[in-house]
Amino acid sequence: MDCLFCKIINGDIPCSKIYEDDTVLAFNDIDPQAPVHFLIIPKQHIKSVDEINSGNSAIIAHIFEVIAKLATQLELADGYRVVTNCGKDGGQSVGHLHFHILGKRSLKWPPG
Ligand code: 5GP
Ligand code: ZN
Repeated sequence: MDCLFCKIINGDIPCSKIYEDDTVLAFNDIDPQAPVHFLIIPKQHIKSVDEINSGNSAIIAHIFEVIAKLATQLELADGYRVVTNCGKDGGQSVGHLHFHILGKRSLKWPPG
């Protein structure tokens, strides 16, 4: 399958890895929008939030447990944002589910 993030998971494309276990991978975004900006992805190819279901949602719960641990490790005590863009109107550019974690600056709301 021609999926950029599956290639990163397989090691075909390098990344700046910050965490990995059997089911998830976290790495720095190549085009950071905040001093801390990393992505966390399931190793299983899930297209977007649209494909989350009772068969794979345990991975999503695990992703949020890892986010909480990494937020502590990266000293994001002042706060941070978790974002997942879904589909065309959501601004998703890579078709493999990913959560952005942005921190170390004050973020505006609502997004554009
Ligand atoms: P989306 O627009 O789908 O929500 O987010 C995709 C993200 O992937 C973007 O923030 C973009 O900078 C990041 N990205 C795209 N290609 C690469 C890459 O090859 N390596 C890394 N580390 N990030 C990438
Ligand atoms: Zn993929």
